[in-house]
Amino acid sequence: MGRAVLLVASLLAIVWATPIAAVGAPLEVRVLPAAPRQGDVVMLFVSGVGDARDVEGSLGGRPLAFFPLGAEYAAVAGLDLETKPGKVPWSVGAVDARGASRKAAGSLTVKAGGFPVQHLTLPAPMVDLDPEAERRATNEAARLRALYDTVTPERLWRGAFTQPVSSSKPGSGFGSRRIINGQPRMPHSGIDYSADRGTPVVASNRGRVALLGEFFFAGRLVALDHGLGLYTLYFHLDGVSVTEGQIVERGQAIGTVGTTGRSTGPHLHFAAQLGRARINPPDLYVLPVRD
Ligand SMILES: [Zn+2]
Repeated sequence: MGRAVLLVASLLAIVWATPIAAVGAPLEVRVLPAAPRQGDVVMLFVSGVGDARDVEGSLGGRPLAFFPLGAEYAAVAGLDLETKPGKVPWSVGAVDARGASRKAAGSLTVKAGGFPVQHLTLPAPMVDLDPEAERRATNEAARLRALYDTVTPERLWRGAFTQPVSSSKPGSGFGSRRIINGQPRMPHSGIDYSADRGTPVVASNRGRVALLGEFFFAGRLVALDHGLGLYTLYFHLDGVSVTEGQIVERGQAIGTVGTTGRSTGPHLHFAAQLGRARINPPDLYVLPVRD
């Protein structure tokens, strides 16, 4: 008798437990900031899945790369500086250690970045490219895009990023709509720090030296791969003190400020990419990640 009751109770438990495992409690996802702007870094945090077998998702149709962070899973995503203001959908799915899968979805409302318009006058040969320079610039842009499409599956960075150069003035110019010699051009996708030629430039966080180059616009450059699709870029350098493939730590010297490439004076152009999204680099200095 006692055994039969126990058996019925166990069967009930199985019947009862199955739909819960299949449907599950709603997946708990926090998205920060709640009201982002064009060019912002967005973080998604998934909690309550323990040691998940799998956490995956997408933002604006682009895959998210989740990593364990404390008791949660987190992903860093970027809203390109020319993202159309309005709703951007996200979705997350998780399979917990018991094999139960849960989902959540929502959307972000992206606001305009309010970027200034910047009028610049540059010597004509720097702007009106001859066919050979045009070809070179096109090839170099393609090399950078191919790099941004390469996702290293391992997260190499830890904690907040650091400003890569000490500068007497705050960085400026991210997202500026540029009118050069009266013609509208690509928006400025990085932040410029003015500093004397020869000022040390350091790695903003731990990463692998993914590319060294001498590009038409960027001049002497270093690109660091931080893993999970996150890259930082250091343009117009005078000198470079790292080699391709090398792992660098946050704060490690990688080169010096210069004015190589299309530049009107010594400064560091510092840019960051999450996949193809051009993001505001200082957002990385305040990432809510402490590890
Ligand atoms: Zn710049």
